[in-house]
Amino acid sequence: MKTAIVIGQGLVGACVALALQRAGLSVTIIDAGDEKAAASFGNAGHLAIEQTSPLASRANVLSLHRRIFTRGGPAGFPLRDISAWLPFGLKLLGATGAARFARGQHAMQSLLGQAIPAWQRLAARVQATHLIRTDGHWVVWESAASAQLGYSAWQAANTGAATIAMASASDLAALRAGFGAQPVAAARFTGTGQVVDLQALRQALQTAFLVAGGTLKHGRVRDAAQDVTMQDGAVYRADTIVVTAGIGASQILKRKFGSIALIAERGYHIEAAMDARSATPQGLPVVFEDRNIILAPFASSLRLSGFTEFSNASSPPDERKWQKLQMHAHALGLPIPAKHDRWIGSRPTLPDYLPAIGRHPQVRSLFYAFGHNHLGVTLAATTGELMAALVQNSVPSIDLTPFDLKRFQ
Ligand SMILES: Cc1cc2nc3c(=O)[nH]c(=O)nc-3n(C[C@H](O)[C@H](O)[C@H](O)COP(=O)(O)OP(=O)(O)OC[C@H]3O[C@@H](n4cnc5c(N)ncnc54)[C@H](O)[C@@H]3O)c2cc1C
Repeated sequence: MKTAIVIGQGLVGACVALALQRAGLSVTIIDAGDEKAAASFGNAGHLAIEQTSPLASRANVLSLHRRIFTRGGPAGFPLRDISAWLPFGLKLLGATGAARFARGQHAMQSLLGQAIPAWQRLAARVQATHLIRTDGHWVVWESAASAQLGYSAWQAANTGAATIAMASASDLAALRAGFGAQPVAAARFTGTGQVVDLQALRQALQTAFLVAGGTLKHGRVRDAAQDVTMQDGAVYRADTIVVTAGIGASQILKRKFGSIALIAERGYHIEAAMDARSATPQGLPVVFEDRNIILAPFASSLRLSGFTEFSNASSPPDERKWQKLQMHAHALGLPIPAKHDRWIGSRPTLPDYLPAIGRHPQVRSLFYAFGHNHLGVTLAATTGELMAALVQNSVPSIDLTPFDLKRFQ
C-alpha cells in the first residue's frame, strides 16, 4: 500500500487526507496540534461560492483608501508588519492587470462551481449531511444609498452559480426585528451555503479518517521535500507528501520553492456559546455590508467576524478590533454578552488571491494545497478531490494550471 503524509489538519488538510485515503493510500496527518489557532477553527463557516472575483482587482486597489482601518474600514496595515505587507502588496499590484484578473476569475469560477457538490459528497461519506446547508445567506444595508450601491454592484458581479434578489417585505421586517431596526434594505443569496457547526464538522472528518485506519501525529514540521523533517529533528518518509499547513506552508516549503509571498491576512471574531440557529431569520448567515462583518448562527455559538489585517501571523492582536466587533454587536442588539470568547487567526493569502494547488516540478512526490485566503472552508472538499486526482496522476476535473506555484516565478 502506498503511503502519504499530509502536513496540517485544518479543513483543507482534513479533506485532502480523506480523499487520499479513499484513493487507497495509507495516510498519516501531522499537525502542530493547536487546533484553535487554525483559520479552520475561527472562520464564519460561509460556503461563499458567490465570490468568484479574486480580491486582487484594480477596483479593490482603487477603493482601498476607503477601507483602511484607521478610517473606519476593515483593512489593517500595521506599521510594525510593513516588511510582510509591502512586498505582498507590490506583488498584488502585479496581479491586478485586466488579463490576469480575468484568468483568475475564470479559474475561481471553475473551482467554486464544484465547491458545494464536493462538500455534499464528502459530508455524505462522513455522516455529516446535516452539517452542510445550501440555502443561501442574507446581505443587509443600513442606508438607502449603500443599499443601492451594494445591490447594483452584486447584480453586476459574476457570482457563479449563486444568485441574488432583493428580500421580500416580510423577510426585511424579520431582519429589522432581529437587528435593532438597523437594516433598511436586504437581499437574499441563493445557491450559497453554510457549515451548521464547524467543530462538529471537523470532528466528523477526523473520526472518519481515524476509523478508516488513518494515523494522526502531533508535532511541528520544519521542512518538507523528499522527506518530512520535524522541528525536533525526527524525519518521516512517505511515497507522497502534501503540505496543507495554511499560513505555515511557506516556511515548510521554503527550501524547495524559495520565498513564497504568503501573508497572514488576519481576521477577528467574538462569540457567545449558544444554539444560535434561531438568532437570524431562517438561521442563515448575515453579511452587514456597511460594517464589513458577517454574523454566523452556528448550532453551538453565535459568532461575529470581520477585519483583514495584513501582518505577521505571530504579531500581537489589536484589541481595538475586538472592541469594534463588540460595538457592532451592541448596535445590532446581538445576544453576545460583555464576557464572550475572542479569537484571532490567519487567512493564508497569496498576492493574486488564488489558492496554490499543485506539485513540485522536480520532487514529484511533493504536493501542496494552501493559500485559500477567504475561501478555505468553501473550497476544502473540492481541493481534497483535486489533490487525489493529482496524486494518482489522473486528469483533475478542472485545469489546475492557474493554481500552480510557478505562476509567481
Ligand atoms: C475571521 C475569518 C473568517 C473566515 N470566514 C470564512 C468563511 O466564511 N468561508 C470560507 O470559505 N473561508 C473563511 N475564512 C477562511 C478560511 O478559514 C481559511 O481559508 C481556511 O480555514 C484555511 O484552511 P487551511 O486548512 O488551509 O489552514 P488552517 O485552518 O490554518 O490549518 C492549517 C493547519 O496546519 C497546521 N500547521 C501549520 N504549520 C505547521 C507546521 N509547521 N507543522 C505542523 N502543522 C502545521 C496548523 O496547526 C493548522 O492546523 C475565514 C477566515 C477568517 C480568519
